[in-house]
Amino acid sequence: MELKKNSIYTIEITDMGNEGEGIGHLSLSDVANNKTGTDISTKASSKDGNNVQNITVFVKDTVIGDVAEISIMKAKKSIAYGRLVRLITPSPYRVTPVCPVAKSCGGCSLQHISYEKQLEYKWNKVRECLRRIGKIENPDTLMEPIYGMKEPYHYRNKAQFPVGRDKNGNIVIGFYAGRTHSIIDSDTCAIGAEVNDQILPIIRAFLTEYNISTYNETTGQGLVRHILTRVGFTTGEVMVCLIVNGKKLPHADELISRLTKISGMTSICLNINTEKTNKILGPTCKTLWGSPYITDYIGNVKYRISPLSFYQVNPVQTKVLYEKALEYADLNGEETVWDMYCGIGTISLFLAQKAKQVYGVEIVPQAILDARKNAELNDIHNVEFFTGKAEEVVPAIYEKGGDGSQADVVVVDPPRKGCDKVLLDTLIRMNPKRLVYVSCDPATLARDIAILTPAGYHLEKVAVVDQFGHTGHCENVCLLSKKL
Ligand code: SAH
Repeated sequence: MELKKNSIYTIEITDMGNEGEGIGHLSLSDVANNKTGTDISTKASSKDGNNVQNITVFVKDTVIGDVAEISIMKAKKSIAYGRLVRLITPSPYRVTPVCPVAKSCGGCSLQHISYEKQLEYKWNKVRECLRRIGKIENPDTLMEPIYGMKEPYHYRNKAQFPVGRDKNGNIVIGFYAGRTHSIIDSDTCAIGAEVNDQILPIIRAFLTEYNISTYNETTGQGLVRHILTRVGFTTGEVMVCLIVNGKKLPHADELISRLTKISGMTSICLNINTEKTNKILGPTCKTLWGSPYITDYIGNVKYRISPLSFYQVNPVQTKVLYEKALEYADLNGEETVWDMYCGIGTISLFLAQKAKQVYGVEIVPQAILDARKNAELNDIHNVEFFTGKAEEVVPAIYEKGGDGSQADVVVVDPPRKGCDKVLLDTLIRMNPKRLVYVSCDPATLARDIAILTPAGYHLEKVAVVDQFGHTGHCENVCLLSKKL
């Protein structure tokens, strides 16, 4: 027996997936007894030899605790995807989203769930990954309570708003709807900086009054593509950058005179992107007014941020995360430390204040240029940065012996796919006393821990730090110590 398309079921949502979608289960008998739906069966099948198994159903727009009527859309193996038809009993964790476009916008997948429940979900997600994939017994005994945000709204210091026109030719500025390129028109964003609410109406009025063309993704014609805003939360400095398919902006002086009335305005620039591409930013920027960059701080480390620089989007929680990493590193000033996947050196510069020598490695050359510039800006001289793949640069330095071939403490902060196996093997041979693992994906973190544990690294502490409230993203930091 197989699941039928459009068949209707009543299910209880008992879990949540990576994008915050609800998860429920259908049993064999549920499927056998269901008379609804069309005969074009989906591929999901509950028969698997003689093994009776449940079908896991993912349903967008549902929440743990909901009892809902759903309709099956598609399925594969023992997984199916359903659509919410009707809520029968709403979950007690449902809240009305602050943002009027939360449902259609692709940005926040959890805004309809209470913030406390979101935090519980993230903490549980890390625990389950450590237990199931990392093979850690009782991980909850090692986990600190989650570090949630004090103020889970307006925390992002950077926003990129696509600009276009609707069917009637009116300007639309906002965010892409989930998985599409259609623009949800909105002057406000509940997780973005509040100053955006002043910036967007000014640009909207300016583009309308001066009839300035907007970019059309299909034809590749039209001038204004995106609006990028950045704010230094510590300094109050504001940057506005218009991304244009051309070399200049007509009537720029008028826009400047309006934008400079906003308190904190420091930099107004153009970014030139004349390619027919999905990439938002082009390679060159022109300053229209003020400084080519803004400055901000994480802790007492200062950063210079241009439109093209990478910078953490939630500096308040980044500070919490990196202070935790520093605490776990437990430095006394005598250590040699490696910072793998160092980006613009955020963690390296934090560590350098407490270590003898820090080495950083990062694959993006521009990020390393920023890292060196940031070291200089902060008068930090005990750091050295290498450009390249960590799994190539570090083994070469290790094999050669000499400076950087040994480390007392290693910090890794890899992208979602986790650490490269060659890098992990090299780390094990370098034999640091402590390994601090900063992760944005608990599944790959747990996979890597299962490699490090048999090599003598013992998981000691775990802290989950919510950097991205209302989204499914989950950051955490772990301490692994060498068993003596
Ligand atoms: N620690 C940094 C950035 C971490 S994000 C910070 O706090 O800001 C992960 C970084 O790993 C990105 O900057 C990415 O460019 C880099 N990266 C990805 N693959 C890499 C590899 N194989 N070797 C080195 N760096 C890599």
